[in-house]
Amino acid sequence: MARKFLVGGNWKMNGSVKLAETIVNALNQGKWSPNVEVVIAPPFPYLQLVRNTLRKDVGVSAQNCYTESKGAYTGEVSTEMLKDLSIGWVILGHSERRMIFGESDEFVGKKVHAAVKAGLSVIACVGEQDAEREAGQTTAVVFRQIKAIADQLAPADWANVVIAYEPVWAIGTGKVATPQQAQEVHNELRGWLAKNVSQEVADATRILYGGSVSAKSAPDLQQEQDIDGFLVGGASLKDQEFLQIISSRQ
Ligand code: PEP
Repeated sequence: MARKFLVGGNWKMNGSVKLAETIVNALNQGKWSPNVEVVIAPPFPYLQLVRNTLRKDVGVSAQNCYTESKGAYTGEVSTEMLKDLSIGWVILGHSERRMIFGESDEFVGKKVHAAVKAGLSVIACVGEQDAEREAGQTTAVVFRQIKAIADQLAPADWANVVIAYEPVWAIGTGKVATPQQAQEVHNELRGWLAKNVSQEVADATRILYGGSVSAKSAPDLQQEQDIDGFLVGGASLKDQEFLQIISSRQ
């Protein structure tokens, strides 16, 4: 089954009105293959501006959301609010949320469930830390993380979930995984889905690679069979480089 290549841009806590306008203008004028889907994830304050001015065939994603739809949760943003702003996507379980804000596997799973139930599409992130890779625990870590997500989902829910494999040692470090390293883990994750959810879900679920993707590394990475797109951090703030990454896939 053909999986449409997806390139996501995670701005993290970066940007300004000016930068949002620059990136929106570049994407609005950009041309790329119809076989590539693009989603950008600005910080919350810029979501509405971006959604209102960006071409409609490019998705807009939040970088987080809470499990409850409303109430006394100061500082949180609900799935209902995202939908109210016509935001179709949310990134959940990013390693920065897990490590800096202490989000557990179980909490990430619950958020993925809440977002999917609300009708949002989710980019759910998994990935091992450097020491875990060194200790030969990569597979165990990503399987534990994906299981916590799968435990919260019915097989049909996977139609709205994209996995992003983001080795923590590659995020923001300039140390990109080799195509072979990424392919190996993507293949294992797909195998996990086949064994624990269904072959159909394994075949249809997109698995993105994230971690220092650049215009230089994208062409080789995109050739791997189980790499179905990228989640791009730093380079998504550079409009022309982001367009080059999108165009690495034809
Ligand atoms: C990310 O934030 O998801 C990411 C992969 O960042 P970078 O591309 O900067 O490593």
